[in-house]
Amino acid sequence: MKTLRLRAGKEKSILRRHPWIFDSAVAKGGADPGETVRVESAEGRVLAWAAFSPTSKIRARAWSFEEAECIDAAFLNRRVAAAVLARSRFDIASDSCRLIHGEADGLPGLVVDRYGQTLVAQFLSCGVERFKPILVEALLAHTDLKAIFERSDAHSRELEGLPEATGWLSEAPEVNGAPEAGQGTQLVLQEHQWQLGLDIARGHKTGFYLDQRDSRWRFAQYAQRLQFKRVLNCFCYSGGFTVAALSGLRATAAPHITSIDSSALALEAARANVALNGFEADAHTFLDADVNASLRLFLEQGQSFDAIVLDPPKFAPTAAHAERAARAYKDINRLALKLLTPGGVLFTFSCSGGISVDLFHKIVASAGLDAGVDGFILERLGAAPDHPMTIEFPEGEYLKGLVVMRR
Ligand code: SAH
Repeated sequence: MKTLRLRAGKEKSILRRHPWIFDSAVAKGGADPGETVRVESAEGRVLAWAAFSPTSKIRARAWSFEEAECIDAAFLNRRVAAAVLARSRFDIASDSCRLIHGEADGLPGLVVDRYGQTLVAQFLSCGVERFKPILVEALLAHTDLKAIFERSDAHSRELEGLPEATGWLSEAPEVNGAPEAGQGTQLVLQEHQWQLGLDIARGHKTGFYLDQRDSRWRFAQYAQRLQFKRVLNCFCYSGGFTVAALSGLRATAAPHITSIDSSALALEAARANVALNGFEADAHTFLDADVNASLRLFLEQGQSFDAIVLDPPKFAPTAAHAERAARAYKDINRLALKLLTPGGVLFTFSCSGGISVDLFHKIVASAGLDAGVDGFILERLGAAPDHPMTIEFPEGEYLKGLVVMRR
């Protein structure tokens, strides 16, 4: 067994069971990509078993902190089974969920989403890459499913020195009775009472933003209760919040929803999703545009909205990007708050790991100050429970949101 020896005093975070060992903490030792190493303190105390990653700043990711543990197929099967069992206990109003959420499920670098009868996996670290065949088998066995598609085309693969990899890891499912390679990637999931189409081969991440499930539901509830007339959904992707709003506004006379995204593919999916749920075409407008420019234009035009969703992409992947990202968040929040009618509601989010809950709160507060708009903070929102946070891994709290009502 190969060993990774830490520098003196560098064992503190691993003693707190944080799974990441940074290159700067390592005194000596190495292994092949993904190979299991025994992590030791400078004094030779065994701290963890970890997967080695030769090129990443995160030089090793801990599988276990138990000296007696053996990182083998049985170990990986237990972790997969535990994650699947946990999902059966969580409150998930959907036939689709995040089945494995990396570090939070004790499988660093592995993301697996279940969409109905299909699994979509991202192997984002050397450790899970090395054990891919075992993990694939475990995933299929513990879910009793047959189809698993790989979407290991995230940027983080590059940091691990791994090439992109996409495609079926099982036999492609039959489409209309005929098995065809590359087919069967367009699926429809059931979330709450809505049907939402996605493409697991071409969509973002694994195809859909499952983490916003509960916030979409909250938005539908606000829409129904407050009877919004004019709604603006910024960064709409495949129209999840648009469908939620339309659903909440079924009994409202002539509501109008404007949805903005800069991706034509996303807008195509959003249009299809609105139609799939049977909503009238004249109740919504889709804009292929930049959100920032659109918000400025609406202000110049003197437009206003009763509800606005701001769900931008990750402006700050890590804390190092936080300052620039903070300005970008503040800017869109300032513009959105100005566009709200009194009593209007803003659902604002940040999915940046580098922006803490506190910092996000401060950014929105200072956006309000600059806009000259005061508001009630009605709720704090986060990722749905199948994207769990754990005590040992604070980085897991990546998605945060606020519901602000303009005074
Ligand atoms: N709210 C969505 C997820 C949003 S993901 C949901 O519930 O599913 C972020 C989206 O922002 C992506 O679809 C991306 O295409 C879009 N986007 C990124 N930068 C943008 C910009 N400057 N203007 C408009 N859309 C943008």
